[in-house]
Amino acid sequence: MNNLLARHHSPLTHLAKFARRTMSTRSVQVTQPARPVQAPAFYQTKPPPHHNPNGAGFRLPWPSATLNGLLGFLKARMFDWEDAPLDPNNLPDVSQCDWKPQSSAVGADDILFTWIGHAGCHVRMPLKSSGSDSPAYLSILTDPVLSKRCSPSQYIGPARYTDTPTSITAMAESEEAGVWPDLLVFSHNHYDHLDYDTVKAILNPPSPSKSPPHILCTLGVAAFFHSMGVKKENITELDWWDSRQLNFPGSASVQVTCVPAQHFSGRGLLDRNKTLWAGFTFECEGKKFYFAGDTGYRNVSRGMTREQEDAQPCCPAFKEIGDLLGPFDLSAIPIGAYLPRSFMSTIHMAPRDSVRAHKEVKSKKSIGIHWGSFRLTPEDVNEPPKHLKEEAERIGLAEDEFIVMKIGETRAFPTSV
Ligand SMILES: [Zn+2]
Ligand SMILES: [Zn+2]
Repeated sequence: MNNLLARHHSPLTHLAKFARRTMSTRSVQVTQPARPVQAPAFYQTKPPPHHNPNGAGFRLPWPSATLNGLLGFLKARMFDWEDAPLDPNNLPDVSQCDWKPQSSAVGADDILFTWIGHAGCHVRMPLKSSGSDSPAYLSILTDPVLSKRCSPSQYIGPARYTDTPTSITAMAESEEAGVWPDLLVFSHNHYDHLDYDTVKAILNPPSPSKSPPHILCTLGVAAFFHSMGVKKENITELDWWDSRQLNFPGSASVQVTCVPAQHFSGRGLLDRNKTLWAGFTFECEGKKFYFAGDTGYRNVSRGMTREQEDAQPCCPAFKEIGDLLGPFDLSAIPIGAYLPRSFMSTIHMAPRDSVRAHKEVKSKKSIGIHWGSFRLTPEDVNEPPKHLKEEAERIGLAEDEFIVMKIGETRAFPTSV
């Protein structure tokens, strides 16, 4: 069974298997932000251009996003899909999370970033407002998948080829500041981003001192968490360009904004594009982080030269995000799952796209994600960081401006505030 079909088109669902029950999540006060974001005029139609006019589901509204459909997938699968060999002795590095940045000199204003693998990002935004001498953080966890497979079943579908760098128990028991997440973020509902077992474990913290985090998701995805017993007030569900201020107990507060991404959604045969997909931006005490989620950049046809590719229309969202919400101190931008280009370019960035998005969103530092854990596409699993380096050089980025990290590694990123 091919990976993509296993991931996106299985009729199985976990949801019906579990009884509904209520969980108490830490109470977060959700308010309108002091500086709401005004969506660009293009998105201010009624309904907005990314909502289907009949009210059911969503669509991509840009010329850069011509989806290739099932026929395009079958063609690409037949003619352009040859899995590069997976050498068990040459896999991306994994270290078990100790949550400590490599550098001993960590500034009080530094953002701490730990890569969990694939799109799983653990981000600690530094808090001055805590009033305490010891470091305090608002902790954000995006798209965590710690299961063996990203699939409706743990028996079939894409299995991880690198180990998980942590567990929910280890996170709950860590004595490092801010490891347990305050905010759990989901860019969309594909299995490699929204994993039932991982979510279930986080919503039932193994340590009594930890509370389930507040959940931030896109339109239509809250129902998934309601069915797991999460109360409405513990979920913030947003449309593109919606912003909220999330005020956590104590003094921590973060402005979140849901921003467009060029992708799609679905967990079964009948729910394609019924729920929304997005990236998110976070602003906490003047420091800014952008999580791009899962996204493409342009639509490249089979056999196109590099020049023809560069002449294709690009997704305008990244420039809009940069103009309205940037610059960002740190961004997590996908760089993997891009072959065959003729099929994947619409929904997944290749490094040549990622470096352009990095510039357009006005990111000071970016980390390449969406590679290293699950094999979804045929490219060599070590290829994305190699191409990233080449493309970063080609467009003249500084050497450490757009990097990849070891799975499980923590780094401190200085901010300019
Ligand atoms: Zn996806
Ligand atoms: Zn994905």
